[in-house]
Amino acid sequence: MTDSKQLAGKRAIVTGASGGLGLHFARILAAAGAEVTLAARRKEKLEAAVAEIEGAGGSANAVSLDVTDPESVAAAFGGEAYDIVINNAGVTVDGPALKTSDEDWSRVVETDMTGVFRVAQAAARAMTEAGKGGSIVNIASILGLRVAGNLAAYATAKAGVVQMTKSLALEWARHGIRVNALCPGYIETDINRDFFASEAGQKLIKRVPQRRLGQMSELDGALMLLATDAGSFMTGSEIAVDGGHLVSSL
Ligand code: NAD
Repeated sequence: MTDSKQLAGKRAIVTGASGGLGLHFARILAAAGAEVTLAARRKEKLEAAVAEIEGAGGSANAVSLDVTDPESVAAAFGGEAYDIVINNAGVTVDGPALKTSDEDWSRVVETDMTGVFRVAQAAARAMTEAGKGGSIVNIASILGLRVAGNLAAYATAKAGVVQMTKSLALEWARHGIRVNALCPGYIETDINRDFFASEAGQKLIKRVPQRRLGQMSELDGALMLLATDAGSFMTGSEIAVDGGHLVSSL
């Protein structure tokens, strides 16, 4: 965690903040002094996280948000504009493309791509109405930049997020809104820890040039660069944090 309060006076929101990377991002932004809104489908799941952040001296609150529901997004962004938006909510469905159902495809694209757009648009509307800029950080993936088997819907949605990031950066620079993508490689979280400990998981890790998983804290530098004024001349960028996975040998 960072000690400096470089985000004091800033309002931040993190989508999908009930666990995993989203909760970690919320903790990091709060530790940097931001007032952080944790957003998730079930608000009650966020109470312990809000209490924990406040117990550590941070400022946090919770809001219900389902990124697949336009009304829910409009309600969550209906108040005072946020300065920093971490567009993190996402789902994964894996399996061969030949066996991917229409329903699974739609769920992934709707959450991981359309949901990201919906949140960015609602946040940017509030920013422009308030006459202030801000920073939107879209959490994409290295799978938005290269592919792996059995993840067609996810890779397609994340590639869409990378291209969307550039389109929005181009359109919204005039409003002082920066839009960038953070593309993590394989990061260890509660949800994937068991898989990566398995034989199949260990095989995957061998393809990462650094021969290990990333830790959530290893995303902090890129997150803070994009969220704070340290990245004030950055918009439309994509930053991969992946142990060299994207440059693995062909
Ligand atoms: P996770 O499953 O722990 O977190 C995803 C969060 O999104 C959960 O809190 C979930 O409840 C929420 N969510 C799902 N659908 C939602 C909806 N409709 N509305 C609101 N919230 C919703 O996974 P994670 O590993 O923490 O992933 C966070 C983000 O990082 C995702 O976008 C994921 O694609 C991306 N990512 C993760 C990794 C990794 O290795 N962990 C790598 C690359 C990218």
